[in-house]
Amino acid sequence: MNMQPKKVFALIDYKICNPGECDPENGICPAVAACTHKVIKQIDGLFEAPMIFQDMCMGCWDCIEDCPLDAISQKHIT
Ligand code: SF4
Ligand code: SF4
Repeated sequence: MNMQPKKVFALIDYKICNPGECDPENGICPAVAACTHKVIKQIDGLFEAPMIFQDMCMGCWDCIEDCPLDAISQKHIT
């Protein structure tokens, strides 16, 4: 019997994500600032899509609330 806990994390749809649309002036992803756990980062720089360190994602969904393009969704794996 598999006793692994259910894991949830945030997932970015890179077909939708566009930092230049969310913040035309600075290219900063609003979801990065929303994540108090600091697990979303624009590692490739401003105006580049962020990535989520899913292993450390707490599943709080603050990023989803602050993503104006609805590019982030909840991913559940069992
Ligand atoms: S807020 Fe959403 S759509 Fe905008 S850059 Fe961040 S993840 Fe992408
Ligand atoms: S769900 Fe919470 S912890 Fe995970 S990336 Fe979004 S804001 Fe950060």
